[in-house]
Formats: sequence, structure tokens, C-alpha cells
Amino acid sequence: MSNILSINSITKFYGSIRALHEVSFDVPPGSVFGVLGPNGSGKTTLLGIIMDVLSASGGTYSWFGEPPSERSRQKIGTLLETPNFYHYLSGEKNLHIAAAIKGRGKDDISRVLEVVKLTERKDSRFSTYSLGMKQRLAIASCLLGNPSVLVFDEPTNGLDPVGIAYTRELIRDLAKEGKTIILASHLLDEVEKVCTHVAILQKGQLLMAGDVNVVLTNEDFVELGAPNLDQLRTALAGLRGVRQLKDLNGYIQLVFEKDALMELGEINKYCFDHGVVLNHLQLRKKSLESKFMELTN
Ligand code: ATP
Repeated sequence: MSNILSINSITKFYGSIRALHEVSFDVPPGSVFGVLGPNGSGKTTLLGIIMDVLSASGGTYSWFGEPPSERSRQKIGTLLETPNFYHYLSGEKNLHIAAAIKGRGKDDISRVLEVVKLTERKDSRFSTYSLGMKQRLAIASCLLGNPSVLVFDEPTNGLDPVGIAYTRELIRDLAKEGKTIILASHLLDEVEKVCTHVAILQKGQLLMAGDVNVVLTNEDFVELGAPNLDQLRTALAGLRGVRQLKDLNGYIQLVFEKDALMELGEINKYCFDHGVVLNHLQLRKKSLESKFMELTN
């Protein structure tokens, strides 16, 4: 099956501000695809463009292998900003209005209320809902008409821990039903917990995209020390499988290529054979947080 969404070289300027620069990636069917980046990196702009709320300054995108159209948009449920629900109407009445505006889902209201667990409170006024319930009603509104693709901008923003856990669980459940979900988040932890794929944006540029387990893999590295670091550095330069060699806090950090990590004993022997006696040798794990910080500087 072709990609659900293909983004090709999308660029966006707001006047002289470049919010996106030639961003390209594909969203495979059935994925939970996280667009991850710090504030101001262009996530909302990108979602606005693919939902046709904003026009791109350059580049193209296609939904379901076709140029975007009203027909393709009908297959997508979106939550870009909190919808304007009527405070004095019930949750259910608000969904009736949303279904009429969207032109879909008028027979689907009891189902979506059930999915977001608001059936018991469907007759309560929107103004009496907690923040978490308001967000759930907004998600229910996206689900009207059972679209196969969902696009959420920062779906857990402003929620308390219970609301966050509930929303993440709901996203996982929707994914299990086979829906493709695209969500923007500035939280690495969120992407790690719910996403199968990720695209990392920084200042409007795509840094990496792909399977979460590949892009955000935990990296092991080895920290070495010796009385003469220059001599150690020279010796290590010849070691096989080394991807990166860095000076840090009076030690040398060695990062190996994927699957090339050597046993500490082997490294010790290698150094000794090259005339270096180590006074420090330790295997460390780089946290995803620090990798993300490093990627996004
Ligand atoms: P956040 O998480 O803070 O919403 P974001 O990653 O979604 O950030 P965008 O909101 O897309 O990022 O913003 C990307 C860049 O474009 C930022 O520099 C922002 O200031 C700028 N920008 C966004 N909207 C406008 C606008 N309407 N006019 C001018 N500049 C804008």
C-alpha cells in the first residue's frame, strides 16, 4: 500500500521568516507518526500546510498517493487547535453541530462519545467539563465519520498527568484499530511512548525521519582515560567500527557504528598493544534526552 502522506520539499516563509525549509518525509500506513521538535521549529506550520489551512511557499504533498482534494480531506480527522464548542450546550449537542459543520458523522455521535468515555456526561453542559473532558470531546469531534487518518497538534498540551495518560492510551487504541495518526509534539517522552515513526524538526529543517527505534535508538558509548590523551586519541583513530571520537571532561568518548560495539576487554587489549595503558574504561549509555538535545542543539 502506498504512503498515507508524502511531503516533498515543503518550504514556508512568513514574510522574511523562514518557518520550514525543504522538508520531505513519508508517513506509512498504520503508523503513529510523531513530528518532534522544540517550540518554534515549524511543527504547527507543517500540520497547517498538510491540512490546507496554510499554503506552502514551495514544495508539494500528497495524501493517499494523490494530490490533496476535498475527497482526501474527508478521510482525515484533525485537531489543530481546541475547537470552539458552545459552553451552554451539552457535549452531545456540540457534537451534533460539529457533525453538521463537517458534513459527516451525524449517525456516529454515540459511538464517538463511547470511544472517548463521555457517554455518561453527554448531557452535561460543556462549561461543566474538566480540561481533560474538553480535550476528549475535541478528539471525539475528530473521530466523527470514522476517518482512517488522524492529525493532532500537541494532543496532551495543558493536561494533567491523568489526562495525559488517558490521551496517550486512546492514541494507542486508535492505532490498534489500524488508523494512521500524525501528531506534533515537543515532548521526546511522548513520541517515545506512543509513536512508531518520527520526524525531527529544528528551526524548520528536517534533521532525521524514520522508525522511532532507529532514529531514537539508545546509544552506548565507551569512555576512556589515559595519562597521555594525545597518544590515546592517535591509537583509537585506528580502531575498527568507530563512528565518533570526542574529548569530554578529560576523557575520550568513543561511539561505535551500529552493532560494532567492542567488548571492554578487547578495547583494553587494543590500547595496550598500541602502547597505551588506560587509567579509565567505562561503558555508558547515552540517554535519549541527551541525544535529542544534541540533535536539536
Ligand atoms: P510551538 O510548539 O511553539 O507551537 P512550532 O514548532 O509549532 O512551535 P510554528 O508555530 O510552526 O512552530 O512556528 C515556526 C516559526 O514560524 C516560528 O519562528 C514562528 O515564530 C514563526 N511563525 C509561526 N506563525 C507565524 C505567523 N503567523 N507569522 C509570522 N511568523 C510565524
